Amino acid sequence: MNSGLHFHIDANDGASRRFTVTITVNGPFSGNILEFRFPRWVPGSYFIREPIQHLTDLSATIDGKSATAKRIDVDGVRIQGVSSAKSVTISYRLLAIEMTCRANHIDETHLHMMPPYTWMIPSRGIEKNRLDQRHKVTLDKPKKWHTATQLPGKEGEWYAEGRDELLDGIMESNANEMHSFEVDGCIQYLKIWDSGGFESSLDRTKEFVSAMEKIVREHYALFGTPDWKEYFTILHLTEAGRGGLEHLRSQTSMMPRRALQDGNEDDWRDLISLFSHEFLHQWNVKRLRPKNFLDYELQKEVHSDLLWWFEGLTSWLGDVICLRSGAWSEEDYRKDWTRKMKRHLQRNGMEHESLQESSHDAWIHLYCPNSYSREVHISYYLEGELAVFCLDVEIRKRSKGEFGLDDVLVRLYNKHHIDAEDPGINHADIKRELVNIPGARRLGSFLDELVSGRKSPLVEDAIKKLGMTMVPEKEEKGAWLGLNLSVNSGAVKVTSHHSNSPCRDFIHTGDEIIAVNNLRIRNVKELNAAIFDKIDNEIEITICRQAVLQRVAVKPISNPNYKVKLDGKGNKIWRSIADTKQ
Ligand SMILES: [Zn+2]
Repeated sequence: MNSGLHFHIDANDGASRRFTVTITVNGPFSGNILEFRFPRWVPGSYFIREPIQHLTDLSATIDGKSATAKRIDVDGVRIQGVSSAKSVTISYRLLAIEMTCRANHIDETHLHMMPPYTWMIPSRGIEKNRLDQRHKVTLDKPKKWHTATQLPGKEGEWYAEGRDELLDGIMESNANEMHSFEVDGCIQYLKIWDSGGFESSLDRTKEFVSAMEKIVREHYALFGTPDWKEYFTILHLTEAGRGGLEHLRSQTSMMPRRALQDGNEDDWRDLISLFSHEFLHQWNVKRLRPKNFLDYELQKEVHSDLLWWFEGLTSWLGDVICLRSGAWSEEDYRKDWTRKMKRHLQRNGMEHESLQESSHDAWIHLYCPNSYSREVHISYYLEGELAVFCLDVEIRKRSKGEFGLDDVLVRLYNKHHIDAEDPGINHADIKRELVNIPGARRLGSFLDELVSGRKSPLVEDAIKKLGMTMVPEKEEKGAWLGLNLSVNSGAVKVTSHHSNSPCRDFIHTGDEIIAVNNLRIRNVKELNAAIFDKIDNEIEITICRQAVLQRVAVKPISNPNYKVKLDGKGNKIWRSIADTKQ
């Protein structure tokens, strides 16, 4: 049933970096006042962003005649005198220059449209159930552009079944070719846009498409072929920006363009991992959700203690699927594991914040870190992934390699996806499904402690159960200060401390290291040389703090040589994780 709501964009003036939105609401109206609200945050990115800040030139008409559109509160617009109107429109322009996956971006070459950054939604003045009906969505854009969008319809005119679909229906419109391939009757589209207009190598693009295909097949082997038959991957290539955002039948992923240039193995691996992560979110986050995310309230913060499950598990399984599918080699997996362990072992945040606490406080911590954050706060992505990894190993050990946490996810998905009889999950649902796995009957308290306790998961023990050990990447000799540093034009500055840094109480983040025992320091190599033989010996470090020179006494210690590398071939349980399910 049509809602009588029409959402329109005019994107013909990309050079202005703005596009125009017109929203038409047909009567009947339920009173004399019609109000709209601009979403204040974007699902998947837990931070109040106030996208209404980009709005200008607000105007309204009632039955074609100019009317007053009055701004109310931080997020609203009110129009009076609508009771007997046939239709009301509001119109506004939006600045679209934020180059992230969660925001709008427009220029002469493309439009990336993010619905919660674009659409105001009627909040008063019409029957509420109209929001659940079919909305019309149209786009007027330069002739050469073609649009990638998960919304059904035809170029320039689509529809969205209800509010959730409307607010999830992103668009990428540009003149670039749309790549496509089919897996088990489902068509996969890839639309690339480069932020500077650089043309990526076609060979590398083809390689990426072939990696995508492997990953898609491996997902289908786990979850079954989906009911939805189209999926759009929008890939933005940038100078340095990176990120990803999931949608019901699409993703926007952003990577430095070097990921598609030869010789950048780490970025290439990251690109594949990012695609897999966002693809997996179709099941875990977009269709299987926390109970209180079923109908997103976008005008205020909505908290969940389960983000460790939705992001940590997706990070873990997304990468496992890269490995299982062959898109990553085992060497890729091991190299990435080392990268993760380096981040994990630098800080002791896990002793100050549990995964549930970190999930709940995403709104005030994750998206606004400072240089001391990681001492007491954790990322539920990384630490969630490692915790989930440990839980998976425990299930596999107890079920003799027959079941894993991916089976728990699939069972939860089948019972609680958004269209199921009992949609949405909470901690108790995860626990129930976990202990029903053969062999995992006693893992309930293991799970509780893992996510509510303030301590690091026992990753090294879990690795041993897989027939491997953790070893240092290479034996580092010489003294150690435990500082992360930035070097800019010969200025060596402290960006953060490792846990156990002997400098923690003497040198602040932001301090510049000028000299060690009167020897001038201009780069990290010079610093390491100056302290090399000073293990447990006091040295004098000259720092510059707020433009004032100071001298501090520090006793460097020996390098902790973090065990970050996987060693050994692995046993049968490891194979049950790593081998394809196809
Ligand atoms: Zn994610």
